[in-house]
Amino acid sequence: MNLTERYLEIRKSIQSDIQIVAVSKYKPAENIERLFKDCGQVIFGENKAQEMVDKALKIKVPVEWHFIGHLQSNKIRMILPHVSLIQSIDSAKLLEAVNKEAKRINKTIPCLIQFYIAQEESKFGFTYDEFSSYFKSGKLKELKNIEIRGIMGMATYTDNQSQIRAEFRNLKGIFNSLKINYFNADASFSEISMGMSDDYKIAIEEGSTMVRIGSGIFGSR
Ligand SMILES: *Cc1c(COP(=O)(O)O)cnc(C)c1O
Repeated sequence: MNLTERYLEIRKSIQSDIQIVAVSKYKPAENIERLFKDCGQVIFGENKAQEMVDKALKIKVPVEWHFIGHLQSNKIRMILPHVSLIQSIDSAKLLEAVNKEAKRINKTIPCLIQFYIAQEESKFGFTYDEFSSYFKSGKLKELKNIEIRGIMGMATYTDNQSQIRAEFRNLKGIFNSLKINYFNADASFSEISMGMSDDYKIAIEEGSTMVRIGSGIFGSR
């Protein structure tokens, strides 16, 4: 199968109300333009600031960029003009730094809060209690240039399907609790970004609204 065949196969297997983020990291701009032009795929995910900006400047068709990697504060300024959603807000410090830069350029930046749900050392994100206490501090309400659209998480890299399912179920539970306790009146708090090439089917069964698929579309990296 070629690129567009792989993409269409995956698109066909997913309900149309679930968004696909085509994770194009390490893949050339031509592949992104091909998916946009031939298949109508609009949202692309990148995890490195420089790579996202380089591609954003090169690509002439109107795609939308989601930033999905660990974002360093000194890279915020370069991505903000191009990004349509930062999926990987993994600390209060980062949230405040994004707000500050967004305010400077007079923009409101849609964000997802990344939660730590895996049993791995290497994954970033808030715990429920960390986010809860930050919310209760009242500081979040002061961040007028951030719009929190929902949450994101990554399951442990494992073959154990029931562990992956339990982690996604936990993330959905976190979403429900946040919605009830803190974002009740907030219709734009609606996204649960979970699921990658190897586990998106489980993620969708557990309530994902947005899957991030790289190698399944573009081939291995
Ligand atoms: C690379 C990446 C993906 C896509 O991974 P695949 O297994 O290639 O689908 C999804 N989310 C994040 C945060 C990533 O870094």
